[in-house]
Amino acid sequence: MPNRYKLLLPQTLFQAMVEQAAAERPNECCGLLAGTLGGAVVRAMRRFPLVNAAKTPATEYLSEPRSMFAADRAIRAAGLDVVAVYHSHPTSPPVPSKKDIASNYSDWVMNLIISLESGQPEMRAWWLFEGGFEPAEWGFADDNGVE
Ligand SMILES: [Zn+2]
Repeated sequence: MPNRYKLLLPQTLFQAMVEQAAAERPNECCGLLAGTLGGAVVRAMRRFPLVNAAKTPATEYLSEPRSMFAADRAIRAAGLDVVAVYHSHPTSPPVPSKKDIASNYSDWVMNLIISLESGQPEMRAWWLFEGGFEPAEWGFADDNGVE
């Protein structure tokens, strides 16, 4: 049974994710958040935007392998873990699609989906696993120590 944690997300990182999602419309955007795994509450410390290699509007994302590799290496080099994978849904609700479940990064890492469907960005968190998904818990944190 993977360890389930609550994610604390500093406001500046959330703002940057929303700006990335808006800038990459009509495509989906994607990226990684880094922090330290291990406790019941995990705080995101850094954001690593990824290149979306799918480039087909609105329906899927595919992390460009070199940017995923570079981000993963940078996160390890900084002594951090991947604590969340995020992507945007430009025109649909922040709920995992079948493709999201099929291309899941890891059962151990929280998935964040930012929906731009309405005027107000809405983000929801999920645990994805083979055959389904469950809601995950997240909340805002202050910006102390965020790079
Ligand atoms: Zn999706």
